[in-house]
Amino acid sequence: MTSVAENLERVREQIARAAAKSGRTTDDVELVAITKTHPADKVREAIETGQTLFGESRVQEARAKIPELPSNLRWHFVGHLQKNKIRHALPLFEMIHSVDSLALAQDMNRVAEEEGMHPRVLLQVNVAGEGSKFGFSPDKLRHQMEELLALPRLSILGLMTIPPLAEEAEASRKYFVQLRELRDRVQTDFRVDLAQLSMGMTQDYAIAIEEGATLVRVGTAIFGERMRRKH
Ligand SMILES: *Cc1c(COP(=O)(O)O)cnc(C)c1O
Repeated sequence: MTSVAENLERVREQIARAAAKSGRTTDDVELVAITKTHPADKVREAIETGQTLFGESRVQEARAKIPELPSNLRWHFVGHLQKNKIRHALPLFEMIHSVDSLALAQDMNRVAEEEGMHPRVLLQVNVAGEGSKFGFSPDKLRHQMEELLALPRLSILGLMTIPPLAEEAEASRKYFVQLRELRDRVQTDFRVDLAQLSMGMTQDYAIAIEEGATLVRVGTAIFGERMRRKH
């Protein structure tokens, strides 16, 4: 069994190599270490190696775990956000990767107004059009972009995607390219700056970086297999 420290070292090497391949450096790519299902002690092992950016996908779990850990860490939310959890999520997370509908964005804007906050968000895009997945279709995103940009409390910083599950990491490449190209078009058409591309997980983060990812969300390669959730 390898340690979290060794795993992180390996992942950081891979990130550096993939960044170099795309003519960038490690500084252009941020590693979000996804801690869902893993206890605070596991997170501390990562902190000892200098990791300060972490991600969670469930508000309830994050509300229990984050207060157990040092307060200088940065947390990103990457899961589907239920409307009734917005108020709890906003103060815990410096970025929400997964704004997946106009209705959610509008609710977040309203809650942020009430709480005096300015959330930094990414819009989640379902590029493959999978029925089971959350997210804007590329068409819907373009149609609703005007309304999204008009929400005064939200800072929309980029796009996020989760490609379909596949055996081969290479299968994800075309979806990453599609997300980047969609981002480029939306930037031009709406004259906005969408610098952040959140794409790539354990299986395919190297390929995501080659295609322009600025945020990779890696769990299993760092912390090992996830514990099963208790029901
Ligand atoms: C769990 C999760 C990850 C991390 O997945 P791994 O395959 O374990 O790296 C990344 N993104 C999201 C949205 C997740 O829910």
